[in-house]
Amino acid sequence: MTAIRLPNIHSCRKFVRSLQLDPYATAYELCDQISSLRARPIRVVESRLPIPGPMGVWVCRAHDDVVVVQELATGAHHDHIVLHELAHILCEHEGETFPEYEPVLPILDQERDGGAVLRLRSAYDSETEREAELLAAAFAEQMTDDRTEPGISWDVHRYFAGD
Ligand SMILES: [Zn+2]
Repeated sequence: MTAIRLPNIHSCRKFVRSLQLDPYATAYELCDQISSLRARPIRVVESRLPIPGPMGVWVCRAHDDVVVVQELATGAHHDHIVLHELAHILCEHEGETFPEYEPVLPILDQERDGGAVLRLRSAYDSETEREAELLAAAFAEQMTDDRTEPGISWDVHRYFAGD
């Protein structure tokens, strides 16, 4: 899969359709399908991430991708965090190494991997964050169990898509 560029919600919806996914009711189910498509596992784990701090972290390892979600997040917010990190993975956004985060990521302690690259969830402060938010919104729209809280995806549309 080559790097994709999704400048607006319409291109995100088109990309989601192009994946020809089976119906999914949760972000976990979507991750399973994307794992199969990419032939590279995506694992979702919950952890008590420090507050203030990112609500989700993508850890790119040698043989899999790990999405670490703030365990205090629930419901649609939880799903949105996973979808956002999943979008980073699919868009192949560049990661940065944040070694100071390793102690709070239990998954990394169990399976040490020197090549881990962490991508932190931050504010909408860059092109890649914008792209990840838009694609997450497009994935949320397709969720069969519609738990998406309007406040999240509508805000994204208003800020970025102009519709
Ligand atoms: Zn992000």
